Amino acid sequence: MSISCEIIKDLLPLYHDGVCSNESKRLVEEHLTHCEGCKAELQAMDEFLPINNAEQNLKEANAIKNLSKKWKKGMFKSLLKGALFTLLSVIILLFVLYLFMDIRIN
Ligand SMILES: [Zn+2]
Repeated sequence: MSISCEIIKDLLPLYHDGVCSNESKRLVEEHLTHCEGCKAELQAMDEFLPINNAEQNLKEANAIKNLSKKWKKGMFKSLLKGALFTLLSVIILLFVLYLFMDIRIN
């Protein structure tokens, strides 16, 4: 019994993830014994997909970590700047008020 490569290629992702039925699994394995093309396709899934996914996940995780680190640092800095700026403004305002009142009293 010969199944077309199209059907096998449809089944390969399911077979690769181990979610196809036993009957499909048997058909795929049978086909793979005499079809190099589909065998290569399955090997490509084995070799590339998990590695790429893992690498990409790792990169994304690192990028998010770095981003949140930077963001936290940036937020802390801008908070500090904001606090300093507010403090400075209040001091200047008080000083001006003090001068103004001093002039008026005298
Ligand atoms: Zn095939």
